[in-house]
Amino acid sequence: MVKDLAKWAKDRGVRYFMISYTDLFGAQRAKLVPAQAIGDMAVEGAGFAGFATWLDLTPAHPDLMAVPDPDSVIQLPWKKEVAWVAARATMEGRLVDQAPRNVLEHVIAEASRDGLRVRTGVEPEFFILSADGGAVSDPYDTAEKPCYDQQAIMRRYDVISEICDYMLEMGWEPYQNDHEDATGQFEINWKYDDALATADKHSFFKFMVKSVAEKHGFRATFMPKPFRGLTGSGCHAHISVWSPDGERNVFADPQAELGLSEQGRHFLGGIMRHAPALAAITNPTVNSYKRINAPRTTSGATWAPNTVTWTGNNRTHMVRVPGPGRFELRLPDGAANPYLLQAAIIAAGLDGLRTKADPGRRYDIDMYAEGWKVKGAPRLPLNLLDALRAFDRDRTLKSLLGEAFSAAYIKLKQQEWDSYASHFSRWEMEHTLDI
Ligand code: GLU
Ligand code: MG
Ligand code: MG
Repeated sequence: MVKDLAKWAKDRGVRYFMISYTDLFGAQRAKLVPAQAIGDMAVEGAGFAGFATWLDLTPAHPDLMAVPDPDSVIQLPWKKEVAWVAARATMEGRLVDQAPRNVLEHVIAEASRDGLRVRTGVEPEFFILSADGGAVSDPYDTAEKPCYDQQAIMRRYDVISEICDYMLEMGWEPYQNDHEDATGQFEINWKYDDALATADKHSFFKFMVKSVAEKHGFRATFMPKPFRGLTGSGCHAHISVWSPDGERNVFADPQAELGLSEQGRHFLGGIMRHAPALAAITNPTVNSYKRINAPRTTSGATWAPNTVTWTGNNRTHMVRVPGPGRFELRLPDGAANPYLLQAAIIAAGLDGLRTKADPGRRYDIDMYAEGWKVKGAPRLPLNLLDALRAFDRDRTLKSLLGEAFSAAYIKLKQQEWDSYASHFSRWEMEHTLDI
């Protein structure tokens, strides 16, 4: 609990604060404020021109004031004189309802009124690319099956270990690093935490991975499917719900099927019920749908789901229950906005708990190889437009996330879809020129 940012900075030799908020597209925007000036800004906030905030504001709106949340402050391990701090977006003294971090705080408050404390872990996968972003950075990283490639992870040891060391230093309790299933792709795992803390760490993680990669002359991307022939980047979320004091995992029940309690099943039921709408948030870009709808090869090697199904310890479904007391949602991808990801999961789960939703039948088959056997298994949306439409139809999810947010999100994302849909591709010339 940091109370006084000015004193905190002085004690640590911090010269600048990066007052940061996340827009509706998941981009982090910031002002760099000298520590001497933090006194007033800690109360009033740093000012941003509304129309440039990507929170669906116009030039006619008053300034957006980003008020730092001292609990989120982190001294940059790679540049100790700067500290990053997540901010609450406000306008004329009121919270801006559609700002992603505010949406999450609102949903968390709603869940805690029901006595729920949601704890999550995220697993953001990413690629390390060459400086121009055009190719995998390591020319030797070309194996056809590169998952866990020992030689290749050691070629990027300087980058990966630097990030992991910083996480150790920040007390995040990282526990493993691996080379993932695509060439140039990596994952670093750290301990789960309360949803807001995880969202702040997730945001900071993206900033840190990109910064460290750039320091080494590379670029890092969390884009869901940067290369057609390679596995995409997921951002799986591991979910559990705890008693308000954080002592008891209410999802754990050793007597229950797969060790998942009745409450865990209802929460999961909510996730299953809202999955198509949820996708608009967990899979927020045009490119996201190229990850979850990639053609299945015989080796099934995309590891991303395309059906709304759940299972035990099996990676071919949307939800996996890998062990007692939690489940893994495999739907989200690297483009997911860290705050909206958590908010959408909690909202869907909350509805599931309130209505005692049933997750439906569990399938333990290899969904890639034998999915055809499951008649009528609901498919995930095929593209962003389908997902946005599903979200727009989902009144419960929209109301739990807030009407102002939902309207702003659908509007901006629809513009993104329209821009994509009006783009003429090479494919059209090659396949439909008709001469
Ligand atoms: N990269 C896979 C995905 O897109 C996940 C691989 C894994 O299970 O870690 O979801
Ligand atoms: Mg992974
Ligand atoms: Mg995983």
